This record gives sequence, structure tokens and C-alpha cells, in this order.
Amino acid sequence: MRDSFGSANSSAVPRSGTDTGAGTPMLADLTTIAVGGPVDRFIEPETEEAFVSAVRDADAAKLPLLTIGGGSNLLAGDEPFHGVVIRDGRRSIVVCGAKSSKFGENGDVEIVAEAGVNWDDFVVFCVESGFSGVEGLSGVPGTVGASVVQNIGAYGQEVASTVVSVCAFDREAGVICELSRDDMRFGYRNSALKSTMYKDPAMPADHYFPTPRYVVLSVTFRLHRSDCGEVAFGQLAKAFGVDVGATMPIAEIRRAVLQVRAAKGMLEDARRYASPWMLGCKDDRNVAQAIDADMTADADYDRHSCGSFFMNPILDEHQAAKLPADAPQFDAVRSDGSRGIKTSAAWLIDHAGFAKGYKIRENAHAGLSSLHTLALTNRGGATADDIVQLAQVIQEGVEATFGVRLVPEPVVVGMTLQ
Ligand SMILES: Cc1cc2nc3c(=O)[nH]c(=O)nc-3n(C[C@H](O)[C@H](O)[C@H](O)COP(=O)(O)OP(=O)(O)OC[C@H]3O[C@@H](n4cnc5c(N)ncnc54)[C@H](O)[C@@H]3O)c2cc1C
Repeated sequence: MRDSFGSANSSAVPRSGTDTGAGTPMLADLTTIAVGGPVDRFIEPETEEAFVSAVRDADAAKLPLLTIGGGSNLLAGDEPFHGVVIRDGRRSIVVCGAKSSKFGENGDVEIVAEAGVNWDDFVVFCVESGFSGVEGLSGVPGTVGASVVQNIGAYGQEVASTVVSVCAFDREAGVICELSRDDMRFGYRNSALKSTMYKDPAMPADHYFPTPRYVVLSVTFRLHRSDCGEVAFGQLAKAFGVDVGATMPIAEIRRAVLQVRAAKGMLEDARRYASPWMLGCKDDRNVAQAIDADMTADADYDRHSCGSFFMNPILDEHQAAKLPADAPQFDAVRSDGSRGIKTSAAWLIDHAGFAKGYKIRENAHAGLSSLHTLALTNRGGATADDIVQLAQVIQEGVEATFGVRLVPEPVVVGMTLQ
């Protein structure tokens, strides 16, 4: 188990990825956007018992607690984090067995993955084993544990549709519990776990922030035993020259998803796994393949982001009626269960006058990705403040143009961004 203490008392603003020299990482070392200050203590437990007791101890001592996975949905402030950062060091995936099912001769299979498993390692395992259901989520950075916190989704799939149950440590009751898929109350980039962290969108809750009340220990998935899967997204269908709903080999779907993601700069920079604080977080073979497969790996300045920085807004009919006729609009369900209309955050940003590559000023260290309007990127040497300033300019511009306030998707630690 890695357990390091630092003296994160410096008030100097740290630069991206610098070593504190104090035995603990900077949050810049642990996050894909590569910003964030030093931490007081970093623990990487390798057993469930050690993981749970590290969480229990931090709570008992009333210390701020950040359970971190791949740091791909986190924007951490430049100031020191005076608390404990815990990263699950367990990486096992166990196939529980197949049973006959409505899926006919292919059957289905249950798989338990520990929270610390790298998400894309899990996808590779499933695709290579001939288990379909998560291939559309190829290349999403992060871990299995966090995947159910925000119900990751991409290219027509959401993790929610494969989850049977989540084993978690309930910080309030002090016990390990099993949460069924119903208990998880999955929604668009949301779950019962994420709900414990916010009182309103982007407004942290008093008790459980930046780590939810339930710390995920493992997830049980149910996938289909099949080498083929459904092409569930228009862009992929177009790449294959087939209709949405057509069936293709899951290995092909994975390849196509990775290509589309690479072209949009929506893959993390896999070279980060060579850094001392990330070593061992992802299977070495998959790191090498990810570097090889990424066509845009040279475009460093587009690679350090949190992925989509803003959620697609789900509006009520009154708000949606004010959008221009050509704004994308899809039926959706709002968090209170009422009917809503989802629009595209990328479209709003673009049509509010913020083009790909936009920066507040010529020499700014932060800017929109030159490949994707929705990604705010650290273009080298950015601080968290640089990213927040850019985010605020975009929020204000979109609100002034369309009357819609964009809500950030990443968990914002040590700063305010609403
Ligand atoms: C290039 C890029 C592309 C992306 N594309 C997508 C995409 O297509 N679709 C999508 O949905 N997301 C996408 N994301 C966002 C991100 O990858 C996901 O949100 C991912 O699930 C975050 O996982 P993580 O392990 O990095 O979480 P972290 O960023 O480390 O943590 C995020 C939150 O989860 C909590 N958490 C972490 N581990 C646990 C645990 N074991 N138990 C309880 N809480 C925990 C943390 O405390 C924190 O609140 C992208 C990000 C990047 C950088």
C-alpha cells in the first residue's frame, strides 16, 4: 500500500504537474487536465479492508476526503488540498459464470470488477472475451468505481444498462452494502451516488463532497456472450456504412469508437501512465496499444482536458421554445422525472461565438480544444484558475445569447464554479 504524507502548506501557486518534492503528488499529477495543487496525504490501498479503513479513518478525523480514480472528471484548485486523497489500488476482474437467458444460445455473463480497475482495461477484457455491452464505451478514461457515479455514456451506450449491482461502503452507516440497479437511480450523467454530492446542480452538498456518501468497492455487470453488438449511434453507423441498429463485431465497434474519439481529441493522453504517480494504474499492454492507436497523440495541447466540460442542458418546454429553430432538441427526462428537452452544449457554445480553439487572449494557457468545442484544455502550463476563467466566460456568453446556464460536468474541488 502506498501511503505518503506531504507538507502541502505552501501558498505558492503550483504549476501543472510539478513535483512537490515532499513525497505526495500534486493533483495535477493525478488528473487528466493536469492542474491542481499538492495534497497533504495520498493513500493507495491494495485490499478492500485497507481501502475501507482509510475512508473510515479520514471520516473519523473529519478530514476532507477525495476518493480519486483516473482523475478524468476532476478540476482541482491550485491551492493545497488539506485532506486525504485515496485511490483504490485493486485491479481484479472476475467472471462469475454464464447462465442461459433470453439472449438464446449466446447467454449472458456476470462479471465483478473492483473499483480501481481502469475502465478501458475492463472494456478490452470484455471485447477480447467476447462479452458485448460496453464496447461503445471504449476509450472513456477513468475507473470502474467512478463509471457508476456519473453513469458514463457514449456512442449509444450507458454503463447503467449493464450494471446488476454496486458494492459500496456507506460512510454514513459505516457498513458495506449492496446497491441494486434500482437503488442506483441512474439518469443522464447522474446516479444516487452523485446526488449525495450536490444540493443543486453544481452546488456541493454540506457533508458528502467531493466524495459521495457511498464509496464504490466493486461493480457487478451483466453482459451478453457474443462477439457481435449493436451499432447504436449515427456517427458509428455512418463510419461502417450501415443503419443504426445493425449488428457488427464488437472488436470492430471498439476500433471505430477509438478512431472517432481520437479524431475529436477525446482520448486521454496514455503517456500519463508512465509518470511515477500513475504507474500501474492501467495495464501496460493496453497503455502501449492506446499510444499506438491514438492518431492525435502529437497534438499535446488538445489532450489535457476533463472530456466534455459542460453537460447537455435538459430544458423545460418554456426554455426550449426560446432556442433557435435549428438548435438540436431531443426528448429527455428531467431530474425530477418530468418531461424535458435536451439540447447540445457544444452547439450552444459554438453558436454563442466560441469556436474550436477559442482562448480568452492570444497567450492564454487554457483554451477550447481545437478538435472539440466542449473540451476545455490545458494547453501547457495552465492553472486551475485559468480553466475556471475560461469556463466562466463561456457560461456567461451562452447565457447572454440563449438564456441557458451551462452546468459543469467535472467535480470541481477547492474552487467555485456554478
Ligand atoms: C478525454 C476524456 C474523454 C471523456 N469522455 C467521456 C465520455 O465519453 N463519456 C462520459 O460519460 N465521460 C467521459 N469523460 C469523463 C470521465 O472519463 C468519466 O466521468 C469517468 O467516469 C471519471 O472516472 P475517474 O475514475 O477518472 O473519476 P475521477 O475523476 O477520479 O473522480 C470523479 C468523481 O468520482 C468519485 N469517485 C472516484 N472513484 C470513486 C469510488 N471508488 N467510489 C465513489 N466515488 C468515486 C470521485 O470522488 C469524484 O467525485 C471523459 C474524460 C476525458 C478526460
